[in-house]
Amino acid sequence: MNSGKTILDALTRPAELALPEADDAVRCLACAHRCLVRPGKRGICQVRFNEGGQLYAPWGYVAALQADPVEKKPFFHLFPGATALTFGMLGCDFHCGYCQNWLTSQALRDPASNSSIQLIREVDASELVTLARRSGAEVLVSSYNEPLITSEWAVSIFKQARLAGLKCAFVSNGNTTPEALDYLHPWLDAYKVDLKSMREANYRQLGGVLKHVLETIERVHGMGLWLEVVTLVVPGFNDSNEELWEAARFLRSISTDIPWHVTAFHPDYKMTNRDHTAASSLVRAAEIGREAGLNFVYAGNLPGRVEEYENTFCPHCNTRLVRREQFSLREYYITASGKCPKCGGLVPGRWSEQPEKIVLNGTHLPKKVY
Ligand code: SF4
Repeated sequence: MNSGKTILDALTRPAELALPEADDAVRCLACAHRCLVRPGKRGICQVRFNEGGQLYAPWGYVAALQADPVEKKPFFHLFPGATALTFGMLGCDFHCGYCQNWLTSQALRDPASNSSIQLIREVDASELVTLARRSGAEVLVSSYNEPLITSEWAVSIFKQARLAGLKCAFVSNGNTTPEALDYLHPWLDAYKVDLKSMREANYRQLGGVLKHVLETIERVHGMGLWLEVVTLVVPGFNDSNEELWEAARFLRSISTDIPWHVTAFHPDYKMTNRDHTAASSLVRAAEIGREAGLNFVYAGNLPGRVEEYENTFCPHCNTRLVRREQFSLREYYITASGKCPKCGGLVPGRWSEQPEKIVLNGTHLPKKVY
């Protein structure tokens, strides 16, 4: 047996997002693939498996742990300036050719990522919460690989994090099920969804289904969780004006207040045969978002090269409320009650109740946590 599998299989618990089926098979409910996992078999993600009629889910470890600026997730309307202790595990339910975290996300799926097993560090939930407090984090985030496939572990951590006063968030591909979202909802404050394309054929190439992601965006917004959406703009893949307009119109049809981040691609993993996203393309994508009627459109990964698209403006009077440079805040004017100080209009988001304590002009760089 593969030693990576042996190590990972030991770090599991019986899954809660599971339904028994005939002949000891189990239907996994953690993501929209809804794998029917038969005894001795694994789901598409490879990290959830059926042993003797019981589905097992990853538990009790992290493969990456970093104190990041919350802006790096990216969340721009979730306590700007906060530190987000971010943990990742191994595995994914997609296989995106341009994944920037492929070493961990493609564990057990691509032999090239076998070495990721060495990144495993066993921890318990309370230890992670202690590390979050020690690193000054206000937010705890499950990210780097797809958090849905390890939802049970995330919930066990978030339960303790909430008691410690931390906010909790998912950074996800949005391949959810209603069951998984209901399970996560009580313990989550915010959810970032990647909207990778508006084309079914593109989603098939990545291992997903467009409809499931669109439904997630609607559902997360409907549940009242703070939602931000990211589209990595990949030249020749999803960057036509037509497709960007479709994405922007779709978001606007749900709410003009959903922040939409259009971010720059760089060649990675298996997609090395195309150019970096040009700053002009990113600005074009952001302009489409604004023209479509979205109030908050941000251009990411090209700091200082995207005009005003790193900043937040009042949706009522257009006053600049937050000025950013990459992950660092340069100016911040949103009031403790989440309003524009000039016109008094409410700014959608989750804002600090002590804006005077927000650190401006800090380096705010990611830090590994050991
Ligand atoms: S998390 Fe998704 S891919 Fe993994 S077993 Fe469950 S349904 Fe299948």
